[in-house]
Amino acid sequence: MKIVIANWKMNPLKFSDAEKLINNYQIFKNVKVWITPPNIFLLSLKNKFKKIIFGAQNIHFEEKGAYTGEISAKMIKNIGARFVIINHSERRKMGENLEMANKKIISALEINLITVVCLGEEKRIKNLSQLKNEWSKQLNLLFKEVNLIKNKNRIIIAYEPTWAISTYGQGSVPREIVYYFINFLREKNIQSKIIYGGSVFKENIENYLDLPLDGFLIGSQSLIPKNFNRICSLITSSKKQSF
Ligand code: PEP
Repeated sequence: MKIVIANWKMNPLKFSDAEKLINNYQIFKNVKVWITPPNIFLLSLKNKFKKIIFGAQNIHFEEKGAYTGEISAKMIKNIGARFVIINHSERRKMGENLEMANKKIISALEINLITVVCLGEEKRIKNLSQLKNEWSKQLNLLFKEVNLIKNKNRIIIAYEPTWAISTYGQGSVPREIVYYFINFLREKNIQSKIIYGGSVFKENIENYLDLPLDGFLIGSQSLIPKNFNRICSLITSSKKQSF
């Protein structure tokens, strides 16, 4: 079973459009769709679409208190969210850093929320040893004082190099780099699920389908049901289904 996370970002504008989006998603064999809607729709969507797994796009690392505009891990868990995306590049663009992401990971894991942790180089790095150094640096900061073995089923690592996210429009990651990334984590005995995000389109997903990935994180294309369904159908019909 592959996980496909639909990250809606700050879309859509109305609840009725959120319902419409989900109603237009088709169900595919061997594909489990998880959705991160804007928090304002989370509870109502959760109550309406009981079979879908919902999560949040972000949390604050404190449990409660004087943090205007923020929402904690416990709050989203209390309304039924099962997971949270942490360290998304669009959060980092707004000034968040890896130390903050580390605290968020710890606060989510403490209450058994699944953390989908984004990791990846900001700018394109072509030299492989430099690339691995960058991945190591991020890994060490993100998972400082986190027991990766004990929490292996509560952590999903999303390879999302910033430069490849559609928002910044610089293209998608070559297949072999995604493969190196997977091997890099496995060589470090990281056993968590690994997914790939960074401009996944119906036109390029085939590049990644035979890699030992556990799924995909899809942003812009999850807002276009026709394209999203096509992506899911290509995943369903790809030969290798589990690794
Ligand atoms: C994302 O939001 O995590 C993402 C991968 O976006 P996009 O698919 O639009 O590049």
